[in-house]
Amino acid sequence: MGGQAAIGLIGGMSWESSAHYYRLINEAVRERRGPTASAQCLMWSFDFSEIEALQHAGRWDELADRLAQAGKALERAGADFLVLCTNTMHRLAGELQAAVDLPLLHIADPTGAAIQAAGLRKVGLLGTAFTMEHAFYRGRLEERFGLEVLVPDAGDRALVHRVIYEELVAGVVREESRQAYRDVIARLAAAGAQGIILGCTEIMLLIGQDDSPVPVFDTTTLHALAAADRALG
Ligand code: GLU
Repeated sequence: MGGQAAIGLIGGMSWESSAHYYRLINEAVRERRGPTASAQCLMWSFDFSEIEALQHAGRWDELADRLAQAGKALERAGADFLVLCTNTMHRLAGELQAAVDLPLLHIADPTGAAIQAAGLRKVGLLGTAFTMEHAFYRGRLEERFGLEVLVPDAGDRALVHRVIYEELVAGVVREESRQAYRDVIARLAAAGAQGIILGCTEIMLLIGQDDSPVPVFDTTTLHALAAADRALG
């Protein structure tokens, strides 16, 4: 339908970041196609309170079923490819991909490509504990893009995780949390990180380039722009 592919967004994780995806994708289409052009897209938006409860209870099988249902609904509705608007839930990227015939634009891929294009090899990763501590995300960056990925120490990981779930997904942006994140970023840079991945789609609400001594790579923006690129062909 139409002159662009239809993007199937799986969002609501949280809606605070999905709203940015919607804006960034539409702005990119406008820039490329003209002032009245906008993206052809569909969004499945979850109730995040249910998602985060299942995550923290370790019920990833149930989460995989929910992602599969959302992906199939978007497929039936006419999406041409899928964009899962959260880093954490890419832990289930394989299960989602297996449930649909549509391609999934993996969030780590535009991120890895941007880091490679910047000529960096060693990067720090901020995200939820699931993203920082499990192999699904780091592993993809290491294997496909040859990167070395550093994560904060246990205390800093707990802080970064807490701020995401207690503040950012609820739309709360605190100056003391911004300073705490700046300190974590400075420690990663001191440990050798040449860049910092904002590997949770809400971190861009709190942190920008000015908060880091090394380049930051915002997964929300990189993923949204890659989605617009793919839709426009
Ligand atoms: N949006 C976040 C992420 O990118 C966290 C919310 C979630 O657990 O999905 O990882």
